[in-house]
Amino acid sequence: MKIGFIGLGAMGYPMARHLAKEHEVVVWNRTREKAERHAREHGTTLANDLADCAGADVILTILPTSKEVDEIVEQLEPHLREGTLWIDATSGDPNVSRETACRLAGKGVQFVDAPVTGAVVGAENATLTIMIGGTAENFERAKEVLRLNGKTLIHVGPVGAGHAIKVLTNTIMGATVWITSECLLLAKQFGIDMKTALEVTNAGSGRSNASENLLPMRLRDGKWPLVFKLLHHDKDIRIAASLSHQQHASTPMLALTQQLFSGALHQLGDGADYIEVAKIVARMNGTSWD
Ligand code: NDP
Repeated sequence: MKIGFIGLGAMGYPMARHLAKEHEVVVWNRTREKAERHAREHGTTLANDLADCAGADVILTILPTSKEVDEIVEQLEPHLREGTLWIDATSGDPNVSRETACRLAGKGVQFVDAPVTGAVVGAENATLTIMIGGTAENFERAKEVLRLNGKTLIHVGPVGAGHAIKVLTNTIMGATVWITSECLLLAKQFGIDMKTALEVTNAGSGRSNASENLLPMRLRDGKWPLVFKLLHHDKDIRIAASLSHQQHASTPMLALTQQLFSGALHQLGDGADYIEVAKIVARMNGTSWD
């Protein structure tokens, strides 16, 4: 298959590499040097122009938000050919993806939303979990491509369902990181050793990925590496909040999580990692993780 791959960021760069093992992959990136390097290192084809991606069997986008995807759709629309499958692996907005699917259908192009989870390490090792929204037929088509990137591919429902569950699961994760930070720091303030507090948490019902991996790793190494931008995490939680409004749902925990994360982003800045919200929790309590 010929695949037009758009967006060689932290996730897209390794994903495109895996696809190139079985397919002809044409790469385009806003910063061209990254695409040049990809072509050089992984035998992909450098797109001279964005339109070079249009004639492919599959177009795959993985960009920060649905806004950037929309801009790419706008630019590619005149060049698209009937029968192409557009896979959007961005963690996007389900309402926008439904509009995009309708727009592309007018050109005979099928659309699935296929956001991923598993972080950069999952993209590197092709062990991502991928949640796919679209028709059963398009799910099967997407699966044939995305099996090179992930081990678990789940058909979630119609277009938009993938994006919806992605932002909701990231909201669960955000709230968990926050409450775990609050309670561990409170334990510390009460005089309990942090290692002991973690040991007990992880031996009991309070355990989570935050307590088992995310926080202990940073405490052990004393490093807070940029793994997933807080900017992206905040965007996901804001989309989840917008879904709640749309459904007229009662989700006070979600609303609070959104407020806390947006506040943390303003304090930490666009370059922060998502787990750095734990530092804000410490600051709010006049303490630290040291
Ligand atoms: P990055 O910020 O690393 O990469 C973003 C990519 O989008 C780059 O290729 C960038 O190009 C491109 N881009 C940005 N703005 C534009 C624009 N206006 N027009 C065209 N291209 C643009 O993001 P990630 O790879 O980390 O994330 C991508 C998506 O995947 C996000 O939706 C994120 O929420 C999601 N995600 C990320 C995970 C992670 O751990 N990083 C895990 C799971 C999902 P350029 O090189 O020029 O900057």
